[in-house]
Amino acid sequence: MTIAIIGTGIAGLSAAGALHAAGLDVQLFDKSRGSGGRMACTRKDFGAIDIGAQYFTSRDRRFADAVQHWRSLGWVDEWKPSLYDFADGQLRPSQDEQVRWIGTPRMSSITRGLLGDLPVRFSCRITEVFHGKENWHLQSAEGESFGPFSHVVVATPPHQAAPLLAAAPKLASTAAGVTMEPVWAVALAFDQPLDTPVEGCFAHDSAIDWLARNRDKPGRAGKPDIWTLNASSRWSRQHLDLDKEAVIEQLHGLFAEQIGCAVPPPTFAHAHRWLYARPAASHEWGALADPDLGLYVCGDWCLSGRVEGAWLSGQEAARKLLQHHTR
Ligand code: FAD
Ligand code: NAD
Repeated sequence: MTIAIIGTGIAGLSAAGALHAAGLDVQLFDKSRGSGGRMACTRKDFGAIDIGAQYFTSRDRRFADAVQHWRSLGWVDEWKPSLYDFADGQLRPSQDEQVRWIGTPRMSSITRGLLGDLPVRFSCRITEVFHGKENWHLQSAEGESFGPFSHVVVATPPHQAAPLLAAAPKLASTAAGVTMEPVWAVALAFDQPLDTPVEGCFAHDSAIDWLARNRDKPGRAGKPDIWTLNASSRWSRQHLDLDKEAVIEQLHGLFAEQIGCAVPPPTFAHAHRWLYARPAASHEWGALADPDLGLYVCGDWCLSGRVEGAWLSGQEAARKLLQHHTR
């Protein structure tokens, strides 16, 4: 019997890959038009822009092994930016020994690779997950029904997971209790490259807490000179309902102050509001489960709000399911 997986971010695809490798059938669903979730890109005539996750690190051995495998497949490469730190109005070089990874030629190459030929329904928002006499069934916002399924893995941010967990009120209330922080992400493109050695910059107590130069990332050379900016969660919360043009204008002005070189008006700008960008705190759940029901929940919010945490959470959901399944 098939296992339904709701969400094709890195957590859902991590779970799907592990279950598929164990010989089980999976069927994926996502409300978006493509896979990747918060590792997705926005595609423009001049190329793809990483509008979600900017890079990732690996600290867990299992994830490090997976990243090496992805590297051998050409999905990721190491990114060695010229890093800066912006604090007290000063921009200072801030190199370190941390290894940072990036999808090539775009962040979504990883999730695209993990999806492979697995069966998936895109543009399909699941609104209801219910258990019939013996099996699980799903209902979409478009009025379609899917099933029967032996198990369901919910791999969405917590507030999107909670309504899908009505069959397991304890899991639903755990998910509903998680606070996620918003982030405004903006991409700015300039025809003439900005005159700065900065390739990535962390900032503290500032409206923009991260900025990076796209063309210095592996596989992304070319014109124009594109920069991605992440507003801090604090600023994003305070400006949640600002329209996109105003967000671009404000962050462009702050970027010009922070980067320390002349910044002309952008030739192209894009803003994306991530309502559920990152969990306010880390958790140690790994994955949530009601094994007797056959319902599993994973996502970055079950561990750390990072790509690594999301991947590990997907592995943990699959491990719990397989453990119960083969008992
Ligand atoms: P998601 O990627 O959110 O995937 C969930 C999926 O579920 C989505 O595709 C969504 O469309 C789908 N979905 C939701 N509800 C439904 C439904 N009802 N029916 C069907 N489908 C549904 N992490 C790092 O490690 N390094 C970084 O530099 C970094 N930078 C970031 C910058 C930004 C701007 C953001 C937003 C995040 C960043 N992160 C970073 C965090 C990282 O992107 C996430 O931790 C990770 O991608 C989360 O993966 P996930 O699979 O748990 O969730
Ligand atoms: P990491 O080790 O590179 O960064 C962790 C944190 O340490 C950074 O946020 C930064 O504050 C600090 N830091 C690291 N190197 C620094 C340096 N050379 N100079 C100054 N400060 C430095 O990576 P990680 O632990 O894998 O975290 C991933 C990144 O993803 C973080 O930057 C985190 O803020 C970011 N993230 C962003 C969002 C978002 O929505 N914007 C969501 C989740 C995670």
